[in-house]
Amino acid sequence: MSEKAAGKGIRVGRDQSVMDAMEKAIPHWIHEKIDDPSYFGGFRYARNCTCSVCGYEASFEKEKCPHCGTVMQHIKGI
Ligand SMILES: [Zn+2]
Repeated sequence: MSEKAAGKGIRVGRDQSVMDAMEKAIPHWIHEKIDDPSYFGGFRYARNCTCSVCGYEASFEKEKCPHCGTVMQHIKGI
């Protein structure tokens, strides 16, 4: 499945928080949120993800970014 939210280049959150700062400091995969009313909360996360360091787009999470070689971290709550 390929899903591209129209015109959504989600990068910056609404409000700055500790979580936001952590997100920027720790390399991780960014999953795009997709509106889906059939899911709890009205959205789900895309399977494909983007490297927070170089912006490489992968079809699923890998241990390392194949583009920049950064070892990815898992952040609680994201
Ligand atoms: Zn990368």
